Amino acid sequence: MFEKVLIANRGEIALRIHRACRELGIKTVAVHSEADTDAMHVRLADEAVCIGPAKSADSYLNKAAIISAAHITGADAIHPGFGFLSENADFVEMCDAHGLNFIGPSTEHMRTMGDKIAAREAAIKSGLPVVPGSDGEIKTIEEAIKVSEDMGYPVIVKAAHGGGGKGMKIAYSTEELKEAFRMARTEAKAAFGNDTVYIEKFLQKPRHIEIQILADKYGNCVHLGERDCSLQRNQQKVLEETSSPALNDEERAKIGKVCTDAMKNLGYYNAGTIEFLFEEGEFYFIEMNTRLQVEHPITEMVTDIDIVKEQIRIASGATLGYTQDDITFEGHAIECRINAEDPETFIPCPGKITSYHAPGGLGIRVDSGIYSGYKIPPHYDSMIAKLIVRGKTRNACLMRLKRALEEFVIDGISTTIPLQQKIIAQPDFIDGNYNIHWLEKFMAAEQAKKEAS
Ligand code: ADP
Repeated sequence: MFEKVLIANRGEIALRIHRACRELGIKTVAVHSEADTDAMHVRLADEAVCIGPAKSADSYLNKAAIISAAHITGADAIHPGFGFLSENADFVEMCDAHGLNFIGPSTEHMRTMGDKIAAREAAIKSGLPVVPGSDGEIKTIEEAIKVSEDMGYPVIVKAAHGGGGKGMKIAYSTEELKEAFRMARTEAKAAFGNDTVYIEKFLQKPRHIEIQILADKYGNCVHLGERDCSLQRNQQKVLEETSSPALNDEERAKIGKVCTDAMKNLGYYNAGTIEFLFEEGEFYFIEMNTRLQVEHPITEMVTDIDIVKEQIRIASGATLGYTQDDITFEGHAIECRINAEDPETFIPCPGKITSYHAPGGLGIRVDSGIYSGYKIPPHYDSMIAKLIVRGKTRNACLMRLKRALEEFVIDGISTTIPLQQKIIAQPDFIDGNYNIHWLEKFMAAEQAKKEAS
């Protein structure tokens, strides 16, 4: 097992990783920017190293500074969390070259899954069902029109190296496609430095359902069930739940098996998430994330498996030590992402937290690094807390979530707590009757109501 892990991240996820290390008896090193000196994970870690100025490019993305910090402190492994360097194969190679263990999958799998066209090909080869779409890259508008007309509109033009919902454009006609193709490429070039795009059929009312897997380096692989992440705004997840109200036990076991078989086929190891769109009983692969997901805690709540500890164990060479039959699912869990944003305009709202009180009680988990008097820096992602709630049934979970959101006090800044309260009060949500477009439609309707009054 490792003795000292460097946490190459910030915020709640850095704290989350610190907690897993502590429970495994592993020492921790926090690396942080000048803007994060007062962060909770920096206070709690055994050692802390400032690796640069506030700008992520100069600190959390500064590979050389992070490797140096690992050497200075004598860390033997690096956990990347999510975002930042978590899917950066060049960084993993640097870790290898410097004798540091990267807690994650191989560079080969990271590279394949980081390129959505290569990922699609790998998915097809390993037996995962995919969304109907183009055979690889689309280079010209003529090609784009041919593929789209053959497939039928609407279609979605997607950046091969895209992420975070960027570089995706929908077209309902050839006229719209011309604009979508140009815009997706321009946006992809600007955001990812690569304008390779491909085309998929745009599904009109799917749910986003993803499967969490864990695999060791010896061919053992299990799935930890699904997460329904259909509540999205701008292709960004807002609230997630497990189990999905749309799946039955048979469908869950079937897609889980398809995923573990595919992962064994690929020789994938560590934690991973296979994302699908689910429409009318059919699953369609869209991408695989080769890292920890923001919403991993809901899976932990119903399986009682600590995914971060498992990542560390697997990276250190341990075997899983359990099989699919040992995995059980107990109850229902929901996560609400709480952002420092105006709940109506979504404009980020960094600043000082004047008063803070987190909800508690049975079945409540709050993953957050904020505290009373903490100043949220303006340089990073606006997610400041995750409220995760478990109940015996979905209904019990909803009642508990409502109670916990009422108790949550974060004064001094605006947060998205009021939006989460509104969502969970909607009859459609209570009935589990929603797809990936529901939230945006709901918000547009709310806006229209406000303008009319
Ligand atoms: P990213 O890597 O940017 O997160 P994904 O491929 O995971 O991109 O897609 C993000 C979201 O975009 C999905 O959860 C879904 O809401 C929407 N989306 C992606 N592909 C399609 C599609 N073919 N049809 C309909 N919606 C899609």
